[in-house]
Amino acid sequence: MMCANIGTLKETLALFEKHGIDYLHIDVMDGVFVPNLMLGSEYCKQLRKLTSIPLDIHLMVKDPEPKIDWFEPGEGEYVSVHAESTKHLHRAVQTIKATGAKALAALNPATPVSAVEYVMDDVSGVLLMLVNPGFSGQKLIPETLRKISEIRGIADSKGLNDFVIQVDGNVGFEKIPGIIEAGADFLVLGTSGIFKSDMPLEEAILRVKEIII
Ligand code: ZN
Repeated sequence: MMCANIGTLKETLALFEKHGIDYLHIDVMDGVFVPNLMLGSEYCKQLRKLTSIPLDIHLMVKDPEPKIDWFEPGEGEYVSVHAESTKHLHRAVQTIKATGAKALAALNPATPVSAVEYVMDDVSGVLLMLVNPGFSGQKLIPETLRKISEIRGIADSKGLNDFVIQVDGNVGFEKIPGIIEAGADFLVLGTSGIFKSDMPLEEAILRVKEIII
């Protein structure tokens, strides 16, 4: 949603509802864990009043544990916390689950899969950053695609059949087939995906649907 035109927010949400967009991905940035400031808790509360599409809140904030409740997450929503943002990833995950929301453990491009291996049984899935978090419009880091298959392999070996692998950052049309083939099943679409400068939103949504189906 950080890439959405705020002036046409209602029309955007109407299109998302029409085309069955599953979640609204909310990038929360604190200017400390990542070098940018972005969407806050009040934005999430206002957005819930405008649409029935559930939120998928991506917390890029230092020490997220006490801040999770500010967003009032609940059943049917996702909240992700970065393994690098807290000394107590397991505790952060439990805090999310206590709200009723589903927890995802997020990883920056340079962080190895082992950082989340021991919480994989506790979370609904992982969020893999394909670019460094902070700004939209960056280029995908190719090595991150290997991480998708690595995580999928571990999830399969643990028998975690519903384990979600979300990918975030520079997910463009031409990259989607490879990303899905590697084992991802939850795509975050921003300026490379649907909010493109050279294509109307609805056309871009339809293109993505064509590629996925
Ligand atoms: Zn994100």
